[in-house]
Amino acid sequence: MVKSYDVIVAGAGPAGAAAAAVLAGQKLSVALLDRAEHPRHKLCGGLLTAKSVEALARVFGLHLSDLAARPSPFDGCGGGGLFHETSQYLFLHQGQELLRGAAAEPFRFVDRPAFDALLVRMAVARGAEYLPGRAVEACDAASGLVRLCGGEELSGRFVIGADGANSVTRRALGMNGYDRAAWRRNLAAAIEVELPVGAGPGQFPRQVSVPELHVGSPQAGYGWVFPGPRGPKVGICGLRRNDRDGRDFGAIFLDFLRLLGVAAPESVALRGHPLPYGNALARPACGRLLLAGDAGGFVEPLFGEGIFYALATGAHAASATLCGLRNGEEACAREYERLLARTVRPELVWSNRLRWLLFAAMRRLGAAPIRGFVNCAPAALAEMVHGRRSFRLLQKKTWEWGEGVGG
Ligand SMILES: Cc1cc2nc3c(=O)[nH]c(=O)nc-3n(C[C@H](O)[C@H](O)[C@H](O)COP(=O)(O)OP(=O)(O)OC[C@H]3O[C@@H](n4cnc5c(N)ncnc54)[C@H](O)[C@@H]3O)c2cc1C
Repeated sequence: MVKSYDVIVAGAGPAGAAAAAVLAGQKLSVALLDRAEHPRHKLCGGLLTAKSVEALARVFGLHLSDLAARPSPFDGCGGGGLFHETSQYLFLHQGQELLRGAAAEPFRFVDRPAFDALLVRMAVARGAEYLPGRAVEACDAASGLVRLCGGEELSGRFVIGADGANSVTRRALGMNGYDRAAWRRNLAAAIEVELPVGAGPGQFPRQVSVPELHVGSPQAGYGWVFPGPRGPKVGICGLRRNDRDGRDFGAIFLDFLRLLGVAAPESVALRGHPLPYGNALARPACGRLLLAGDAGGFVEPLFGEGIFYALATGAHAASATLCGLRNGEEACAREYERLLARTVRPELVWSNRLRWLLFAAMRRLGAAPIRGFVNCAPAALAEMVHGRRSFRLLQKKTWEWGEGVGG
């Protein structure tokens, strides 16, 4: 027999957990399924901006005072609350040169396995049924039928696809909503490793408590060094997979590690994951299916911030579903698009423009454009990253939330 739910949420990362928490909070029957069991590994720097912290309060009722408390009821890593590091600063490097180092509000860092597990627990506390170890094999947007690997089938009045960058549910959008060639063109490669501090092979030579962004070197895309829970996290991300000499992304990453002073970087086991990078879907809803988070391509393409956009689009998809359950599929798709257009889409469009402009200018003029950019109005730029101002011409930004999302 096929088990039925009001809503099936496929994928229990931040997008899926946010959607499930909103819907279960409205007393609907919600299945939150994931192919893994939490806490599960997720390649991610774990950086949270101020808008992400606000989204946690809005969507889950998780307030900063609870999350940062020591000891915290939501402890992620050994008695220090959910955040393993908080930094008032962000250093921007061009090669060996430090361009700028201030931020108005703190950046916070979470360990993704603990963070994602907490969000799932919050959704379950509101009544969502968590089904770990269930991988979606296929989904039918017209009927809301979801087939799992192994043959089990579930049926939803609506389905929210939140199964990440390599989404299976996205395939169900068909030709209308999803151009596979365009998706692949805009998919960035990312590599990230977490290294112990030390002077030995494959170790990072210094402690890191302030996040660093590096442009210009690595030779493709940009790099970062973030404080990690067990040691610094070093990563690179870029659309181009090769440098001018034709070397691949892995070789570019090893050069970056060398530049940072890591001895024998070849001894480090590399891990990669794709990052949607300017390919937010134009029509992320079709029939009974809505896509949220990485599955819908909702990642900010200048800095690669995805956690906030996953939380926001997960919550928006849930709000639109509430509308759809009353008024039908077309109303659901319209409401989803209305919420996206008012909040998320302008940020993604304008940050993408800024990225192309900055990288094109850097190719011609070196560090000068980026130096001018970060020095022109540092406080306003920091506010832009944190979501107080829009990527659209630095206008003041307020975030709107839809039905079912608390204050
Ligand atoms: C190297 C790297 C560093 C990053 N650093 C940052 C950062 O510092 N800050 C930031 O804001 N963003 C960062 N991002 C982006 C961020 O990690 C993502 O945007 C975010 O995780 C998206 O959340 P999501 O819920 O959409 O997807 P995910 O977090 O990917 O969750 C998807 C879930 O779906 C499950 N799933 C997948 N397939 C199936 C299936 N077939 N059936 C059932 N379940 C399935 C997975 O197990 C997973 O739990 C980074 C990304 C990368 C690659």
